[in-house]
Amino acid sequence: MRMSAIGCPRTARFLAVGAALVMAAVCVRAAQAPAGQAGAAPAAQPPDFSRVEIKTTKVANNLYTLEGQGGMIGALVGPDGVLLVDTQFAPLTDKIVAAVRQISNMPIRFVIDTHVHGDHTGGNENLARLGATIFSRDELRWRLAHPNPTAAGAPGTPAPAGALPKMTYDGPVTFHLNGEEVQAIPIRRAHTDGDTLVRFVNADALMTGDYFRSVGYPNIDRNNGGSLNGMLEGLGITIGMAGPNTKVIPGHGPTADRSGVTFHRDMLLAVRDRVAQLIQQGRTEQEVIAARLTAAYDARVQPANQQNADRFVGQVYAELKAAR
Ligand SMILES: [Zn+2]
Repeated sequence: MRMSAIGCPRTARFLAVGAALVMAAVCVRAAQAPAGQAGAAPAAQPPDFSRVEIKTTKVANNLYTLEGQGGMIGALVGPDGVLLVDTQFAPLTDKIVAAVRQISNMPIRFVIDTHVHGDHTGGNENLARLGATIFSRDELRWRLAHPNPTAAGAPGTPAPAGALPKMTYDGPVTFHLNGEEVQAIPIRRAHTDGDTLVRFVNADALMTGDYFRSVGYPNIDRNNGGSLNGMLEGLGITIGMAGPNTKVIPGHGPTADRSGVTFHRDMLLAVRDRVAQLIQQGRTEQEVIAARLTAAYDARVQPANQQNADRFVGQVYAELKAAR
């Protein structure tokens, strides 16, 4: 059975940043909880990663996506070695490496983390142990080492030293390997404050991490430094870099294109403007959420549940309210 790459509600993700196993447990618990009670169900079962299969898809030339559970992985292969974008959950590393071995027998040399969430960085330590050098924004590394408290108020579990990126950057970085130019481009304060857009120039592909997703509503993880304006800026940068044939690979959901990102950005703008109107009218957060402002977009956005839409509207409300 192939488990859904969008199976983990992002409400769960930002509760336990950087602690892959804890994150996975939270993820599974949330997935099993009834609507409205994510994370509150008793008797959490350990996650069964044994059932996850890695689906490899050729995107272009020597670029592939590896879909398992958690964020989408990108794999650039060739004679200079393998570069991965993101690492999913730690228990999946063996399967991910086995999938890479199907498309390359060269070592995994580089990893770029798109953002801090455990379903994108959980395999860092394993891959570093296998010899990969991990790259990320400065902010991402700091948050892995200094995670937020859990929703219950317990201290967050810092990522082990071996999981922390060895190379960090604050401006764009370019990798030159396998005949490709791979650009790691900081996107400030978007989904989190440590987001990176990864551009494969020759393959004409962009990997966005979670500031763009092709299924479900955005998650503005304000607890990890994310912001509505940063999301809009990141989406705008992505639209500006994309041509009509550019493959846009989101953190979750199928590969999209520029028109898909444009739809997503326009939806975000429209919801923002409606929320702003209702705040102007003095509505409370509960009233704004109850207005179901996203309903017209549900058919295309395909949220897993109403919570997914409500969380997004609540995040927009919180940011606009705080800015007043
Ligand atoms: Zn995320």
